[in-house]
Amino acid sequence: MNIKPFYRDTWAEINLSAIEENVSNMKKHIGDRVELMAVVKANAYGHGDAEVAEAALSAGASCLAVAILDEAISLRKRGLAAPILVLGAVPPEYVEIAAEYDVTLTGYSVEWIQEAARHIKETPVHFHLKVDTGMNRLGVKTEEEVQNVMKILERNPGLLCKGVFTHFATADEKDRSYFLMQFERFKELIAPLPWKQLMVHCANSAAGLRLKKGFFNAVRFGVGMYGLRPSAEITNEIPFRLHQAFTLNSTLTHVKKIHKGESVSYGATYTAEKDQWIGTVPVGYADGWLRKLQGTEVLINGKRLKIAGRICMDQFMVELDKEYPPGSRVTLIGRQKDDCITVDEIASRLETINYEVTCTISSRVPRMFLKNGSIMEVRNPLLQENASK
Ligand SMILES: *Cc1c(COP(=O)(O)O)cnc(C)c1O
Repeated sequence: MNIKPFYRDTWAEINLSAIEENVSNMKKHIGDRVELMAVVKANAYGHGDAEVAEAALSAGASCLAVAILDEAISLRKRGLAAPILVLGAVPPEYVEIAAEYDVTLTGYSVEWIQEAARHIKETPVHFHLKVDTGMNRLGVKTEEEVQNVMKILERNPGLLCKGVFTHFATADEKDRSYFLMQFERFKELIAPLPWKQLMVHCANSAAGLRLKKGFFNAVRFGVGMYGLRPSAEITNEIPFRLHQAFTLNSTLTHVKKIHKGESVSYGATYTAEKDQWIGTVPVGYADGWLRKLQGTEVLINGKRLKIAGRICMDQFMVELDKEYPPGSRVTLIGRQKDDCITVDEIASRLETINYEVTCTISSRVPRMFLKNGSIMEVRNPLLQENASK
């Protein structure tokens, strides 16, 4: 196997076996008759879309979802043939392009459906109707709008409704009342539709993991597929163990001793209180290791050590407890010996959610894909469009 390399000492490892296990456990949980739609928008939440999509499909997913048409086209260009649904709004003038790539769109308003119908030329366009049950983001909200959509469809045979769905605002919160209200509203809104012939879906990871039934016929599985919990609140309602797939690694590039009173990095915000060892790590905010992570910890030789001073664009410094050789492994997210820095830990340091952490690790960080501990592929957009085998 000839894996194309990358020439920096920082990379993310994506454990495709973990993704496969999460998908396969979810598939068991939802049952044979419910389809699992793998949500791979935003480069699979920063993990690597085509590789994650392939792993998910091999483990029991039957279709894919992305946020924008460009993501769907990119997956097609990389050879993925599975059904793809674009969850977000695609300008109606591009419906022919979607049809050309056999991509399913989201019809989210009467106006969009009208306009889409106007733009269809030869190839029929497939879409799922989005109904808004309380998120107030996209979707038709009233019975009347659903009737209007049905009338437009009767007059436009080139516009084919293949599914109907909604999205929950609070499925990851302990209190289920708003979630259950949305669930009931969904049933009311879809009642007049010929939904026995449609793909009907409402659950995201949180709803899919918590519900025991009521999935209709598909679940949109996003964050859980990456081994991340939708929220801390529902941890004890998750029916199987999730395996985090994302790790972020780097290397000590330069190690030096500094004297008491010397400062480190821009602004000289860190001053040594005694003579000590400082290491330089080639990761910075341009890689998505944000400045707000100043003062947080990394793992070196299984030990937690603190980031010293400001994080720069491409590097930061770390307070060492002794001299380590340059080349020592630095783990920013992931396990070393008995300790593990989780995506959740970084999210809480950044006062955000785990979703945002992996999405923020930029494309400058090469993604290395592993299966059963072996390197399958490396993706480094800087050097190659599709760095592979
Ligand atoms: C992103 C997204 C999902 C996936 O949500 P998770 O919480 O990651 O499972 C599902 N549905 C829609 C409409 C989305 O935008």
